[in-house]
Amino acid sequence: MRILLVEDDYMFGDATKTGLEQEAYAVDWTQDEASSIIALETQSYDMVLLDLGLPDGSGLNVLQFLRKQESHTPAIIMTARDALTDKIGGLDTGADDYLVKPFDLHELYARIRAVWRRLKGQSVTLLTYKDMTLDPSTLDVSYNGQKHNFGPTEFRVLQSLIENKGRIVSKESLEDTIYSWGHEVGSNAIEVHIHRIRKKLGKDIIKTIRGIGYRIE
Ligand code: CA
Repeated sequence: MRILLVEDDYMFGDATKTGLEQEAYAVDWTQDEASSIIALETQSYDMVLLDLGLPDGSGLNVLQFLRKQESHTPAIIMTARDALTDKIGGLDTGADDYLVKPFDLHELYARIRAVWRRLKGQSVTLLTYKDMTLDPSTLDVSYNGQKHNFGPTEFRVLQSLIENKGRIVSKESLEDTIYSWGHEVGSNAIEVHIHRIRKKLGKDIIKTIRGIGYRIE
């Protein structure tokens, strides 16, 4: 999942980005309204986290821009101002949820998972596929009754393939899901993760479509 983090407070932004990357989300971080809008024009995102008070404007303008593009990308507002008018303004502009600062990062992760489930139309917290169960809150994968320990990146690769089951997912789109701006991506990084997943779950689970990408039936 690729996330745009809009936050001008350096310490808070840095901690949030680091935390989300440890959860294997790809995070691009912008610190003002203008560069956030450029980011939205140039990259597609699965979720946007928005601070409201920005040095050159407001997170609400960023949200308005996003919604004008008829984008259904979910947005979570993070605001220190817990005034009712801010919340109403945010929700009216098309925010999906909001968090009042300061908040625990684990609460942010839980909100992200909840908003993501709603977007995908899932009411249950576990992602299931045939005899496989994925728990996005613990990154546990069980398959044929056996529990497997997955690293966050392997988990995101598998999650993305299952969410797109039956479709070919290109290597580029998997890279987009996992690596932030400025992150050096080795040319075989995705292959390495696929190899590790196959080692745990068996090699038949993910099909390689040569030259195109990967697919789970
Ligand atoms: Ca701010």
